[in-house]
Amino acid sequence: MSEQVRPRAAVPEQLALGGMPEKLFVCTPSKLGAYEDCPRRFRYQYVDRPQPQKGPPWAHNSLGASVHTALKNWYALDVAARTVEALPRLLRATWVAEGYRDGAQERAAFDVALRWLEEYVGTLDPADDPVGVERVVATRTPVLAFNGRVDRIDRRGDELVIVDYKTGRAPLTSDDARGSRALALYAFAAERTIHRRCRSVELHHLPTGSVAAHEHTEESLRRHVSRAEDTARDIVAAQRRMAAGEDPDAAFPTAPSNRCSWCDWRRVCPVGRDAVEREPWSSVQRALDPAGDAAESTPAAG
Ligand code: SF4
Repeated sequence: MSEQVRPRAAVPEQLALGGMPEKLFVCTPSKLGAYEDCPRRFRYQYVDRPQPQKGPPWAHNSLGASVHTALKNWYALDVAARTVEALPRLLRATWVAEGYRDGAQERAAFDVALRWLEEYVGTLDPADDPVGVERVVATRTPVLAFNGRVDRIDRRGDELVIVDYKTGRAPLTSDDARGSRALALYAFAAERTIHRRCRSVELHHLPTGSVAAHEHTEESLRRHVSRAEDTARDIVAAQRRMAAGEDPDAAFPTAPSNRCSWCDWRRVCPVGRDAVEREPWSSVQRALDPAGDAAESTPAAG
């Protein structure tokens, strides 16, 4: 064992007691995704208490959050005020400054973010009111109590469309939209929350202005939900084994990958400590440098 922080020895909340029905596993897409990416990362984030020391904030997360909030606030304006000219003020008002190397890099990132927003908003009809902006959708299955916040829910004809903004550098394809567990769960939950059919999911990549779309079927959504339920069962089983005395490192093993370099827990993880170290601002710097190597490992920025 090489952990710096001991896991809590609590009985997991989902544990059945005396024949009582099991509680549903309460989750968001990011909670499920954390376990699917790396069970150890999940443990550091959701199980160990006190929580291990996280790494410093990432500038690419700050950039993504700033852009998302500016778009949310743009839609909160009256239709007449939804102009491209409104964007600098909106972006400045909720700009997240954490993680940048210095003021010069932060100013360059602000300029890039503003250009992405101006180009993207230029393609929108201000009179179109989405069904939801950063709207929470929630639903239950026999295993899960799921909730998530969707960047935007549009209505096209009689159907809903899930829209997820992306600001990472890597280009996106329809395979990314098809394979996204989060998008599928959002669609599944949106249909049940808003009571309108929802099969379309879209990734709107602001750096390129491209849209990666996929049309789900009832069956493909069910497959995603079923896999999410499998993940939930795996998590509950791991928590139970740990509560029963199994070595926490064995219950929640590491899953090394190129994501380790971008992991918040890299410095406390025995595997992550050997991963290539990235500066908090290095992903943003590559986004600012058009001559950089696009194929190099990049974090999955929102
Ligand atoms: S550094 Fe890698 S192996 Fe360790 S918790 Fe993070 S993702 Fe998992």
